[in-house]
Amino acid sequence: MTFSRRRFGCALCAMGWLALAGETSAQNLQGAEPGRYLAPGYQPAEGDEKGLWALMDRHERELKGSRFVVRDPAANAYLREVLCRLAERYCADVRVYVVRTPLFNASMAPNGMMEVWTGLLLRCRDEAQLATIIGHELGHYLRRHTLERWRDVRAKADFGIFLGMGLALAGAGWAGSLAQFALLASAFAFSRDQEREADEIGLNLMADAGYAPAATAEVWEQLLAEYQGSSAARDQSFLFATHPLPEERLDTLRKSAVARGGDGERGRARYRERLAALRPTLVADEIGLRQYGRSLIVFEKLLADAPDDGGLWFAKGEVLRLRGDAGDVELALAAYAQAVATGGAPPETWRSIGLVELKAGARDRAEKAFDAYLEAKPGAADREMLKALLSQ
Ligand SMILES: [Zn+2]
Repeated sequence: MTFSRRRFGCALCAMGWLALAGETSAQNLQGAEPGRYLAPGYQPAEGDEKGLWALMDRHERELKGSRFVVRDPAANAYLREVLCRLAERYCADVRVYVVRTPLFNASMAPNGMMEVWTGLLLRCRDEAQLATIIGHELGHYLRRHTLERWRDVRAKADFGIFLGMGLALAGAGWAGSLAQFALLASAFAFSRDQEREADEIGLNLMADAGYAPAATAEVWEQLLAEYQGSSAARDQSFLFATHPLPEERLDTLRKSAVARGGDGERGRARYRERLAALRPTLVADEIGLRQYGRSLIVFEKLLADAPDDGGLWFAKGEVLRLRGDAGDVELALAAYAQAVATGGAPPETWRSIGLVELKAGARDRAEKAFDAYLEAKPGAADREMLKALLSQ
């Protein structure tokens, strides 16, 4: 059986956005007809919906214990605040989990369990962009899209597959294979209409909450730029493998945002500040994926907003050093120098400078850099290893 032809979505709203095209029309939550949206405090009383919720509740208990769930209190409190600002009446019904997976994704389960992956948090540039995604996920919840999808899948022959994979993957983080994850995602894929609807609700929620509507299209523009600028991502990312490029979709989002109008809040400084403790992890995980072309695009974007961020300059240097193409050594050293110039370079910057210099045969400069590293990080566990490297 082939899953490559099927749309990814539900579990993967990023993917849903890719496939989405068409017109959206403004539709305010408050003015909707009765019963259109799930009522605050809703609990299914009986039937298949109750069964589906029970399944998700069980999965949520597993997720809670997962080592891939990020416990950082500041980040968790922050995402919750954004959620409650978007939909105060549903604040008590939805739980947001930050899952440590360096890919762009968010998902919404029917029982109110929302996952936001760390790769998404790295890529958002301000609170308005984050609000766009949380609003979109809320849209799936409010319109009970998973229940619709569940009934649809159940009516088809692949129900066994749906059960067989046991929903064990969400929360397994990126240790789970991408192929398995794609399988899960495909079984849960929302329809194009559902994605369009969630997107529309997301835009309305964020704009109603006072955020800049233009942010809705931006998240998407950035992802597209990443895709187009990186052959590695194009070859390897299952996310983009089966979808046409969403130029039309992007156009629709831009038009919807313009139609909605207004400047609105960005919350860029707050976004950076509230996720500051988590950022080194996000950056390290992105580098760890070893998709250098893609990572460079991500870091360049972030540096455009924060040219004084030593951690980001270091990250850029690391990507270049690890890629090691012609000319990368010089570019890496230049990035490390920028990191040092900001005054906020992590100690590892000097270690990396030392490694580059040593490889180039400049033993004296390497030793000087290692000394600077050990001075900045006296308890470094790799002290002896670096000495050994120098004496080789
Ligand atoms: Zn979606």
